[in-house]
Amino acid sequence: MLAKLKEQLLSGSAEEYLQGLFDRIEHSKLNAFNALARESAVSRAREFDRQLWGGALAGVPIAIKDGISTRGIETTCSSRILRGYIPPYDAHVIERLKAEGAIIMGKTNMDEFAMGTSTETSCFGPTRNPWDLDRVPGGSSGGSAAAVAGGEAPCALGSDTGGSVRCPASFCGVVGLKPTYGLVSRYGLISYANSLEQIGPLTTTVEDTALLLDVISGHDPRDTTSLEKDSYLNLEEGVCGLKIGVPDEYFGEGVDPLVEKSVWEAISRMEELGASWQKVSLPHTRYALASYYIIAMSEASSNLARFDGLRYGHREAEDQDWHTTFSEVRAAGFGKEVQRRVLLGTYALSAGYYGRYYLKALKVRTLIKEDFQRAFQEVDLIASPTMPFPAFKIGERIADPLTLYMADVFTVPINLAGVPAISLPCGFSQGLPIGLQLIASHFQERLMLRAALAYEEATPYHLQTPEVAA
Ligand code: GLN
Repeated sequence: MLAKLKEQLLSGSAEEYLQGLFDRIEHSKLNAFNALARESAVSRAREFDRQLWGGALAGVPIAIKDGISTRGIETTCSSRILRGYIPPYDAHVIERLKAEGAIIMGKTNMDEFAMGTSTETSCFGPTRNPWDLDRVPGGSSGGSAAAVAGGEAPCALGSDTGGSVRCPASFCGVVGLKPTYGLVSRYGLISYANSLEQIGPLTTTVEDTALLLDVISGHDPRDTTSLEKDSYLNLEEGVCGLKIGVPDEYFGEGVDPLVEKSVWEAISRMEELGASWQKVSLPHTRYALASYYIIAMSEASSNLARFDGLRYGHREAEDQDWHTTFSEVRAAGFGKEVQRRVLLGTYALSAGYYGRYYLKALKVRTLIKEDFQRAFQEVDLIASPTMPFPAFKIGERIADPLTLYMADVFTVPINLAGVPAISLPCGFSQGLPIGLQLIASHFQERLMLRAALAYEEATPYHLQTPEVAA
C-alpha cells in the first residue's frame, strides 16, 4: 500500500492527499488524535510537491503515538500531567522517519502513560473502534491503530510494553509488530517500563510494516541497549519448509471459540503453503501475567518519579514545600490507573517486599525466556491468537482492572522474553477483526515477516475495511 501511495504522491499532489486526511480527521468520531500538526505537515507536503525528494517514505504522512517525543508538537502520553509539554527534540525514530522523507501528521491517543489495553484511561477520552464505534480499539496504542484502520493515516507508530501495538492491531484489523528488545532505539520514547518496551509500526499490510521497521530499526548510541539491524525488504522467500509451533497454553479456556477457529485455519493455510506445524510447550505461561505486572509497575513507579511538577509537568501552586507540591501535582495530574500502578510498584520495590515480589517476578521472567529458547530449538515460529477475544464494549471492563489485565495473557510473555511478534488479521467474529500472532526467536524479524507476508498474500482479511474508512 505504501509503495503505491509513494507513486501516487510523486505523480499527484502530496498536499491534496494530506488535506484529505486532515479533513477526514476533523469530521471523525474516532477520537484517534490528541494533536494535529496540520500547519507544519501541510507546509512539508507543499515543499515535497515542489522538490519531490527521495527516501524510503518520501512524502508519506505518518501518525505518531503520543508517548513518542516530537520536536515542536505537544507530547502528553494522554496525561494531564504533561499537558502543554512541547519536546525540544525528536525521538530517534522520528529523526529516522524524517530522514527518509516522511511527514509527521500528529499525535495519537493512548492509554495514559501506555498503561492499559483499551485506550480508555486517556485524559482526552476514549478512542473508538472503527469497526464498531461502541467498542474499544484496544490499547495502549489505540489511537494509532484506529487512525490506520479508519483511513485517517496510511501508517503509524505505537509502542509495546506488554502488547500495546499488537492488541490494538488485533482489535482494529491491522498489522502491528513488536520488535526484539534492542532492535529499535528507545531514545525519546517516554518510559513506562523500559526493560520491556519497544516502538513498533502499525500499518494495513505486512510489507508496509516491514518497510517502517527497516527505517526505524538499528543501533543508536543514545540507547545503549540498541543493536544493529538486518534488512526487512524483499521478503519473497515464503513459508515453505518452516516449522510452526503451536503452544497448548495459548488455546482453550477463556479463548473465544471463533478466535481459536480462525487461528487454527491460519495454521492450516500456512501448512498448505508448505510449512509444517507441531505442538510446543511454554509451561510457565500461567505465571506470565503476575510476573509482567509486578515488573511493569515497579519500573513505572521509578520512571514516573520524574513527573513532580518541578522538573516536568503541570504545577498548580508556587509557594509550598516539596512534599506538598509533589503530592498535589501527582494527585491532580495522574489518572486513577497510573496512581494505582505507581502505588503497587512502589510497594513491590519497598524494603521487605522486594525479594517477595520483584525478585521473584524476575526469576519467573527468566523461566519464561527459557520456555521460548527451548521451543525455538524445535521450531522456527510460534503461532497463537493475539488476544483471547475480539474488541469489547467501551466501559465493559474498565471498572475491574484484573479482567482488563487478563486480556494481555498472550502478549505479555513475548515482552518478558524480549522476542519479536507480529499481529495480523486472520478472520472476523460478528464483524469484529481477529488477530493472528506469530512469534519468532530474538532478531528473527525477517523470518517472521516473510511468513506473515506469505500468509497475507494467501488470505483476504487485510483487504477488508470498516465502513467509516470508505
Ligand atoms: N496492557 C498492558 C499494560 O497495561 C500493556 C501495555 C503496553 O504494552 N504499553 O501494561
